[in-house]
Amino acid sequence: MLPIQVTEPFLPDIKEYQALLAGIWERNWLTNQGPLVCELEKNLRIYLQVSSPVHCVANGGLGLQIILKALGVSGEVITTPFSYVATTSAPLWEGCSVIFADIDPLSLTIDPKAVEAAITRRTQAILATHVFGNPCDVEALAAIADKHGLALIYDAAHAFGVRYKGKSILEYGDASLVSTHATKLFHTVEGGFVVAKDTEVSEKVEWMRRFGHAGPEQFKGIGMNAKMSELHAAMGLSVMNHLPEILSGRRRVVEHYQSILDEKEGVSSAITLRDHCEWNYAYFPVVFDSEELLLRVMDRLKKNEIYARRYFYPSLDSLDFVGAPKNCPQSLSVSTRIACLPLNPNLKEEAIEKIVSCI
Ligand SMILES: *Cc1c(COP(=O)(O)O)cnc(C)c1O
Repeated sequence: MLPIQVTEPFLPDIKEYQALLAGIWERNWLTNQGPLVCELEKNLRIYLQVSSPVHCVANGGLGLQIILKALGVSGEVITTPFSYVATTSAPLWEGCSVIFADIDPLSLTIDPKAVEAAITRRTQAILATHVFGNPCDVEALAAIADKHGLALIYDAAHAFGVRYKGKSILEYGDASLVSTHATKLFHTVEGGFVVAKDTEVSEKVEWMRRFGHAGPEQFKGIGMNAKMSELHAAMGLSVMNHLPEILSGRRRVVEHYQSILDEKEGVSSAITLRDHCEWNYAYFPVVFDSEELLLRVMDRLKKNEIYARRYFYPSLDSLDFVGAPKNCPQSLSVSTRIACLPLNPNLKEEAIEKIVSCI
């Protein structure tokens, strides 16, 4: 067996990609909101059934920064310590300060009670992550945001295709960011897209990502370069054709893991999915009884050329450069004991069994 990585980018048949490249060569149009980016945005909006326009960006990290800018968030942001570092670095990069609110240990998403307790006079926004595609408690967070006049932003980097109560998860909150990085379920090599509910904010996102251009010689305001190229959009369009097999393959792998992991002592499937959610099988995290056990298992997997990944680790409140108090015991506890097992739509049954046998 080849080494097994925690994630493996999905590549369509090279001919599908080449067919789209041929059009790019013919048009000689490589970037600046070309026809393939426009087509991808249109197709994503239809596929995901979102009511607001989809704005593609160069990557998820820049997408988060643009959302904060478009919503005018510059003060204090309450966010989760249990996420990828981008969720914290984006507001810091934008000059905001970050306050952490602990997570609920079952859903692994931010705990609304902790959010409410963390609000100060300076708080302007809540930035929450749909962890591993599991939706946040969107109703409780919306109620808190309304009551205190805060912007509600979702890092939906993991949540491609997730639905909650019959609607796309992207319909909740003021704005959401989906990453389409190569390691994500749906990808454009590098990339992402933003959806914002308010028309004015959505329009800002649209021009902010391309230097504020309103025309060749007109500018609407301060923008940056977060444009998606035609080559990236071509990859996205090619991968989109394979979404049914990507999703069903992942589902098969997750269900097989779950069925054989059931009898193991000291380790369990890590997330409790929220009710009324249609999940996307984006990750298969497992949580161990202790960090020591996790390290032993990771080591044994590595000896077999199987690479699980500690994700998310460390808990973001423990990063010194953030300068926030380390006040999230639930996140600290989970982050030291959790790892994602390899997951890709083509993972063979025997590989899954070998991985579980190492545990
Ligand atoms: C991948 C990821 C990002 C960053 O997305 P990029 O497209 O890689 O910039 C942000 N947040 C979370 C939770 C992620 O997993």
